[in-house]
Amino acid sequence: MPLPKAELHLHIEGTLEPELAFRLAARNGVELPYADTDELRKAYRFEDLQSFLDLYYQLMAVLRTEQDFEDLANAYLERAAAQGVRHAEIFFDPQAHLARGVGMGTVVGGLWRALGSSVENHGVSTRLIMCFLRDESAESAMRTLDAAKPYLDRITGIGLDSAEVGHPPVKFRAVYEAAAALGLRRVAHAGEEGPPEYITEALDLLGVERVDHGLRCMEDPELVARLVRERIPLTLCPLSNVRLRAVDVLAEHPLPAMIDAGLLCTVNSDDPAYFGGYVADNYHAVRDALGLSREQMRELARNSFLASFLEDDEELRARYLAEVDAFEFGQAHG
Ligand SMILES: [Zn+2]
Repeated sequence: MPLPKAELHLHIEGTLEPELAFRLAARNGVELPYADTDELRKAYRFEDLQSFLDLYYQLMAVLRTEQDFEDLANAYLERAAAQGVRHAEIFFDPQAHLARGVGMGTVVGGLWRALGSSVENHGVSTRLIMCFLRDESAESAMRTLDAAKPYLDRITGIGLDSAEVGHPPVKFRAVYEAAAALGLRRVAHAGEEGPPEYITEALDLLGVERVDHGLRCMEDPELVARLVRERIPLTLCPLSNVRLRAVDVLAEHPLPAMIDAGLLCTVNSDDPAYFGGYVADNYHAVRDALGLSREQMRELARNSFLASFLEDDEELRARYLAEVDAFEFGQAHG
């Protein structure tokens, strides 16, 4: 049995495996420029952020109907459950779909068909977080928030993703203020490839409660002290960091130093179909490459529930934390 954990940094579009991409392409009459799943899987071995994003957006063309989004989410939830995930806070990128003529109702409706019955079907509680593409305009983000208003009973919060450098958090101040007024929780990617100043901006100007990635905070000791003092969680994605070259090799990942600094670190998978592993694979990879102890692994799992948006169900959070505390590590150690 795997260590119980929450996943807090997961882009549902990034869970599209080659097999499902081909199945949906066939169902929807979409032609993919790959002969078969083997050739497509080779394309998943991209070298940098731009080649990843090119492939990521190209493959989204297969997602057209509510059924497609439901199938995508169910495929993720099944894999996640097998990896010990008990609670998942799932990102989606509506702008990428709206731009292709797929409506907000189709995306949220389809995802919800899977998420709404996830506890019964997969034993995984869920929350949905709508992300804005930071390389799109602030006006586009605001229009997207407007388009989401009929579905806010299904959306817990907002986030900010895609290419970071050159798109500082300040650009989205107005849309974050509007989202806060609607009662939405706020997170943002910051300090992955962008500088530590972006993390400070995300906290001060966007009011984020959790920072996605955030590993470049380590370049600024005062920022680290603040993140520790204010108990701001960071959602780290170690295998993603290696694939996108935020770190050269996993053995050089700053996670142990971040844990030692007292930061509230969590481990997540980001875009697992593309980055070589789901969340337990990330846990095992950091354990092996960085020599984390069993108690450090347990702490990461505890943190994932502490950092999750379960304020609306503290009883459930307490139950999950009790599961982590009671977990007995076997040979495979989590
Ligand atoms: Zn991400």
